[in-house]
Amino acid sequence: MRALKIKPRPAAVACVLALVAACSPAGTASVRRPGTPSSGSPSTSASPKITRHGPPGERPRAGEVRPVERTSGLPPVISSIPTRRKVVFLTIDDGWEQDPGFVKQVRDQRIPITAFAMRDAVEAKGTPDPAGGPGKYVGAGKWGYFRQLRNADVPIENHTLTHPNLRLLSQDAQRREICGSSQVIRKELGTRPTLFRPPFGNYNTGTLRAAKSCGIDAVLLWTATVQPGGKIAYQVPDKRLRPGDILLLHFRPNLARDFRILVDKIKRRGYELGNLQAYLAAMAVDR
Ligand SMILES: [Zn+2]
Repeated sequence: MRALKIKPRPAAVACVLALVAACSPAGTASVRRPGTPSSGSPSTSASPKITRHGPPGERPRAGEVRPVERTSGLPPVISSIPTRRKVVFLTIDDGWEQDPGFVKQVRDQRIPITAFAMRDAVEAKGTPDPAGGPGKYVGAGKWGYFRQLRNADVPIENHTLTHPNLRLLSQDAQRREICGSSQVIRKELGTRPTLFRPPFGNYNTGTLRAAKSCGIDAVLLWTATVQPGGKIAYQVPDKRLRPGDILLLHFRPNLARDFRILVDKIKRRGYELGNLQAYLAAMAVDR
């Protein structure tokens, strides 16, 4: 087993730990992830065109995020970040469509996102996830798009090989899906996923055991999905953004346009975009 990198911080906000079985979206807990490596020194002078280095997004303040203990030894299941700060996190799944404008947008505007790549989507095999909208396979079949994202400081994480309902699979079959995905990402991109998102949000204890054996540190769910046009579909009755929300988008046509609308909306509501990896690191607890 790999050792967890620990960055405990003082307490702040209560949160709930959900480690097993039910697909509760309320889980939170610890994680290791140092964020993508800094790409250089923190230059502040020189050309005004040069932006600051390192992964983009707001980072937790001292004491903002409470480290969460876990006792089972399995990867925690996280659907929101326990903070009171008006900060939300953007995640994007699958990879059926590869809008080139989106990479430029993320890179030039330093927008923090985390991508969960699914092999069959990226390689345009099989049928798109219905939740992702109609797929036209624009540019699919290529990992180069995800290399560009990786080079724009986007962590590329694990979303299985074939997008199955993991609850219907044995633990061994789940392991093949999760470990297989990590191997493909490592081969194609040279990075090793430490986060896993189960397709449809479906998982069970076998998923957590399998994920752990594949080197996954945390299972990431979400609190709201973003539909075409940048419309947010909340999973809570009051239909408002909440501090620590994790938003789920899909790689779909016109992503750059929808994303622009979404980011404007989030900022208008007084929210900032957080660096998920930095927040997860602040939540980490060894054990
Ligand atoms: Zn998916």
